Amino acid sequence: MTRGLLLILALWLNACGTPPESPTLLRNYQQPATSQEIIDFVEEAVVKSDNLYHTVIGYSEGGTPLVAVHASNPSEYPDTKLHVLIFAQQHGNEQSGKEAALLLIRDMANGMYNHWFEKLEIWIVPQINPDGSDMNERRNAGGIDLNRDHIVQLAPETRAIHNLFREFNAHVTVDIHEYYPYRESWAEFGGYKNFDVQVGIPTNPNVSEEIKTFALMKALPSIEKHLNEKGFSFHNYIVGPAPNLGRTRHSTVDFDDGRQSFAIQNTLSFIYEGINGQDGYIENLERRTIGQYEGLVALLEFLYDTAPETRSMVEKARKNLKEAKTGEKVAIRMEHFPDTSTLMLPLTSSKTGLDTLVMVENYHPLVQPTLEVSRPFAYLVPANDNQLIEFLKLHKLVIDTNVDLSDRIVSRYFIESIETSIDEELPNRLPRVITQTMNGNELTEEYLLVPTAQLHSNFIVSLFEPQSMLGLAQRPGFEYLLEEGEVFGILRVE
Ligand SMILES: [Zn+2]
Repeated sequence: MTRGLLLILALWLNACGTPPESPTLLRNYQQPATSQEIIDFVEEAVVKSDNLYHTVIGYSEGGTPLVAVHASNPSEYPDTKLHVLIFAQQHGNEQSGKEAALLLIRDMANGMYNHWFEKLEIWIVPQINPDGSDMNERRNAGGIDLNRDHIVQLAPETRAIHNLFREFNAHVTVDIHEYYPYRESWAEFGGYKNFDVQVGIPTNPNVSEEIKTFALMKALPSIEKHLNEKGFSFHNYIVGPAPNLGRTRHSTVDFDDGRQSFAIQNTLSFIYEGINGQDGYIENLERRTIGQYEGLVALLEFLYDTAPETRSMVEKARKNLKEAKTGEKVAIRMEHFPDTSTLMLPLTSSKTGLDTLVMVENYHPLVQPTLEVSRPFAYLVPANDNQLIEFLKLHKLVIDTNVDLSDRIVSRYFIESIETSIDEELPNRLPRVITQTMNGNELTEEYLLVPTAQLHSNFIVSLFEPQSMLGLAQRPGFEYLLEEGEVFGILRVE
């Protein structure tokens, strides 16, 4: 071979050579990737791959670009693929999810997972809270806990992820976190949870039963098997204090977080909870990262295997929402209850470091409604309530301007009194109400009509009912909706 040819070969190899390595791996996991390193890494990775594209989906509170990677074959029409949205690090002091996302992007750029693109469209947001991450702080630069901001969406980061979800029409979402098992109460109990990865599924009773069962019976066992084969431990995500101090359950029923806010729109949604370091930062970061990475690979392989089935299940469940029937029951108050099962919880002994099995006496795996309402045909939102109107716009809720109310029954709630209630460890205001009915033609104010037959059907009912423990009136800025001796501003069209 001539020298010239060698030179050309060398240049060519360089141009399409190996994609960049994770900056964190290059320094032996002694420091996590900074937000700037992530931007640089993503830019380099997409250049090396025909299947990766990147875009900025918004800016953080501190002005940092929120980068997302789209992994896809050149798109086909009609698009029949399963859409998967993965986002990491809403909580800035949970570093491993972001690091796992970088490895995933690297290996997709390497061509390791090209088969996925036959059936999957994947979006990855490696870091939705870059400002928090750079400071290893839970909250964003504006002091907002992003994972409690999916309804009111005060933070630009939360709005960005919901815009991406909507535009991409994700069927599956994965929200990656870390849990911190080393709290004092657990040490006093004598053992702590030591699972490399816990994965949670939707728990709100209004989410499609079919989706919840599919996640529990099919997805989780498949993730567990893969993780175990790779030498990592797994558990269905459990929360609660040490077993002798209170209930053990499977996470919140609220849909204000990165899992259930999508689940309530009948999305197959997951939360990943990798184990954090004892220092809440870099301890054991390599193992934490690879555990999360393998957990994601497991899910993506599972979704690849079940893509058409999963897509049609989600689309059918969403059609049910879009055609939701008036009169169906929707849960607005709920609790976790025990069932007949016992939980044998594997723990690591705080004293000996050995694994031990503990029987949990207060295991409450079952979510059941404690109050339901019938789904109305629509809700009426006062046209002069700017805050509510902004809320409708924020969530792109469907408004119908062509309904004749003159022959409809309208009901409204008079708030007699309000007491404080604590349900699911969530303090909330529980009003006693009297329902008053009238004819639509008796209305004197102007209203916008929000039909319940739309994707956000269960979201709307859960938020617009005054007695809902998860209602809008319980959320920051909307407390004014509930006032003793007043009529609740949002009316029902029966
Ligand atoms: Zn978290």
